[in-house]
Amino acid sequence: MSVQATPTKIEKLAAVKGMNDVLPPDSAMVEWLEAKVRALMARFAYRNIRTPIVEKTPLFIRGLGEVTDIVEKEMYCFEDRLNGDPLTLRPESTAGVVRAAIEHNMLYDGGKRLYYMGPMFRHERPQKGRYRQFDQIGAEALGYAGAEVDAELILMANALWKEIGLEDVRLELNSLGQSAERLAHRQALITHFEQHQDQLDEDARRRLYSNPLRILDTKNPHMQALVEAAPKLMDFLGDASLAHFKRLTSILEANQVAYTINPRLVRGMDYYNLTVFEFTTDRLGSQGTVCAGGRYDYLFEQLGGKPSPAVGWALGVDRVLELARSAGLKAMNPTLDAYAIVSDEDALPLVLATLQTLRTAGLSVQMHASSGSGMGSMKSQFKRADSSGARYALIFGQDEIAAHQVTVKPLRDASATQATESLRDVATWAVRLQSNA
Ligand code: ATP
Ligand code: MG
Repeated sequence: MSVQATPTKIEKLAAVKGMNDVLPPDSAMVEWLEAKVRALMARFAYRNIRTPIVEKTPLFIRGLGEVTDIVEKEMYCFEDRLNGDPLTLRPESTAGVVRAAIEHNMLYDGGKRLYYMGPMFRHERPQKGRYRQFDQIGAEALGYAGAEVDAELILMANALWKEIGLEDVRLELNSLGQSAERLAHRQALITHFEQHQDQLDEDARRRLYSNPLRILDTKNPHMQALVEAAPKLMDFLGDASLAHFKRLTSILEANQVAYTINPRLVRGMDYYNLTVFEFTTDRLGSQGTVCAGGRYDYLFEQLGGKPSPAVGWALGVDRVLELARSAGLKAMNPTLDAYAIVSDEDALPLVLATLQTLRTAGLSVQMHASSGSGMGSMKSQFKRADSSGARYALIFGQDEIAAHQVTVKPLRDASATQATESLRDVATWAVRLQSNA
């Protein structure tokens, strides 16, 4: 006697809030952007680096600074279950790249130009353009001190906007100078904000003495006027810092790159000095920064390495693609050359061998498959072939198989005629199908 178990309803599982699936056809847009970036990076002689997604927590605390939004509120931290090590899902990649450069002594024979792509994790309030897992693409030039490398990175980002058809991206620049200059400015800032204590929000009050510069990065609309009136770091810069900035802007001008100077641009991490910049747009509402970066000449030392100047940027893949979409770019389904339909399962070994030859010749071929047993009727297979968008249907019917042939039926070109081809010389007609594309 068999006992039937009462079926219990199994609950569906959803993805973690703020962490999104990227499905086809949207995933094709991500691949498209990545391919554009790879080609661009190659032209600027930047090479790919792949660091782990998990790093030891002190890397970010030391690297980004203790009094920053990321370290204070946004990191996904956990303990290694086996040895208790404090670990963190990377919220950004610059610290990891510099850690790797130090660990592998990458700068032993001079500077390195690097780029990365991949997911970052920040526990933020999810909204359009702001997620808890999001992809960044970044470029880092390690071991170079000159403003011409700051300029090169900006020109490279600018070339990317051109290449992918983005027009309303604006460049904002600032200089954070060097630490002695920031110290004098810091005192002036504290004095300014102390005079308006009542207008400071909780974050700002907490940071007034620990990191007043960070107050300039506030997103609180009620504090904008106060921040606007704050002393400008640019007015505290010495000759060397100003010269660096001047060299950068003159290279940009020679390359017809428009920019505005934003004296309140300070960026969210403590590791920056001299040049900082952001590419912004009005099209994405309040999440308007698509790419941001700057110079971080002291990060190597802060992470225990030999002092080495460096500069870089990171762009938000979601925001760049959203902008590309608003400029009219559509996700494309990759074009399919052929869709194979088969009347008799016994023919499948021969059919699959044929499709393999076509694929080796470079054609994209989809094999019909069904969710039940058998192949399904020829009529329903034809329907699938049509809706697949393929240029040709490859018909392996009973007659064809018996004669060791296939019928090649054009699906998109009404003037083209259908042909019968031999399975013995697939490679020959494969070339013909391809050249008809
Ligand atoms: P924001 O001021 O918008 O919070 P940020 O200064 O924290 O940005 P960076 O750490 O400089 O940003 O990251 C570089 C880019 O990565 C940003 O300009 C943005 O395009 C993207 N980015 C940052 N955080 C997120 C997020 N939570 N979701 C999606 N994209 C993001
Ligand atoms: Mg942020």
